[in-house]
Amino acid sequence: MAKPSRRGVCLVISAPSGAGKSTIAQALREADPTIFTSISVTTRAPRPGEEEGVHYYFRDMPTFRRMAEAGELLEWAEVFGRGYGTPRAPLEAALAAGRDVILDIDWQGHRLMRQAMADDVVGLFVLPPSLEELEARLRGRKTDGDAEIASRMKAAMGEMSHWPEFDYVLVNDDLDKAVAEARSVLVANRLARARRKDLEALWPVAG
Ligand code: 5GP
Repeated sequence: MAKPSRRGVCLVISAPSGAGKSTIAQALREADPTIFTSISVTTRAPRPGEEEGVHYYFRDMPTFRRMAEAGELLEWAEVFGRGYGTPRAPLEAALAAGRDVILDIDWQGHRLMRQAMADDVVGLFVLPPSLEELEARLRGRKTDGDAEIASRMKAAMGEMSHWPEFDYVLVNDDLDKAVAEARSVLVANRLARARRKDLEALWPVAG
């Protein structure tokens, strides 16, 4: 019997900063090393410890714009004058090879990814349990002043207002539960009938 193969799922996870998105994405990747990690292109400078091709592909703005114009980025955004984008070729190759991909990008990236790959994208939004809890998390992890916290909260509110655009929404009030729920979304979508083209060749379909 031929080995069933399927197209990968492109799981896009968005959340306001502080809701636990990166932690959830990282836990899913650690539990399943076949998951493909998309490495973004950015025009910002590397931070200490960041490596080319591991954390980002670091490019100058003319190169980034040339890539965007040539269609080499599936989605891209310029935030505070810095460009960020998702390279097209590696992601498409991963999905075609049956590997699931997790992208942690913002709501605008999710919207553009849906336009670019409507059949592949599954959108998952992570909400914090409450505004108070979100503020406590933002305060807890940084030594920022009140003005900085207020500006982060405003950005978080803007991001959160887009949760209805996503297929799935989870509330991260317990990290283990949130990771288990995110994994369930991924597993359920692996089994979605529309992705099981592989089975049509193996099992008869009523005409
Ligand atoms: P940082 O500069 O702190 O690494 O990232 C800043 C922001 O850029 C984060 O919110 C991150 O989600 C976003 N970002 C990173 N890579 C991409 C990408 O490929 N596309 C988009 N749209 N946003 C990205």
